Amino acid sequence: MALKAAIIPVTAFEQNCCLVWDDAARRATVIDPGGDVPRILAAVEAQGLTVEQILLTHGHIDHAGGAEELRERTGAPVIGPHRADAMLLANLERQGAAYGLDGARNLVPDRWLEEGEEVMIGGETFQVLHCPGHSPGSVVFVSTALRVAFVGDVLFRGSIGRTDFPYGDHDALIGAIVMKLLPLGDDIAFVCGHGPGSDFGTERRTNPFLPR
Ligand SMILES: [Zn+2]
Ligand SMILES: [Zn+2]
Repeated sequence: MALKAAIIPVTAFEQNCCLVWDDAARRATVIDPGGDVPRILAAVEAQGLTVEQILLTHGHIDHAGGAEELRERTGAPVIGPHRADAMLLANLERQGAAYGLDGARNLVPDRWLEEGEEVMIGGETFQVLHCPGHSPGSVVFVSTALRVAFVGDVLFRGSIGRTDFPYGDHDALIGAIVMKLLPLGDDIAFVCGHGPGSDFGTERRTNPFLPR
């Protein structure tokens, strides 16, 4: 498999910014550049990569706060999340001020994503799933061929996304996890926005926040 990936924790929230690239083409996707853009660019440079796109799972500051700066410094387009997070992206500077994070900038992506669309990550095709609840416009990127997903803050190892933020919706979040993610198969491994990853089967069996 030509796809390679590195996780770069960014911001005080230790958000798992993902650098994913095609090892032959040396072209990279950055998923969720929440901040610390110089550190992300250092990782890009260390691998000798060219950033060809910036993907966002949702519009929270720790995931999207550095996207405008990274777009400016690389020329790469920002793709996603779903349009329902537009108001969060338009308020990144205010979110940054509220959480004491410097440098966040408001953002309008080059392209919104919809349920059922596809994106190329590291030379592989990933499906886009719209999974609202943690935020209205949260999306998940999943490759059923590689059996891997990038889930943002929808699902965690032993936990689920917070829904006590403005626009949070607990029932919608549980519904998205149970109806859209878990049926894809127990063997799908995932990278989440914070902390260690897991797989759908482990979470289906042991996650205390999910109905069974
Ligand atoms: Zn979030
Ligand atoms: Zn987060």
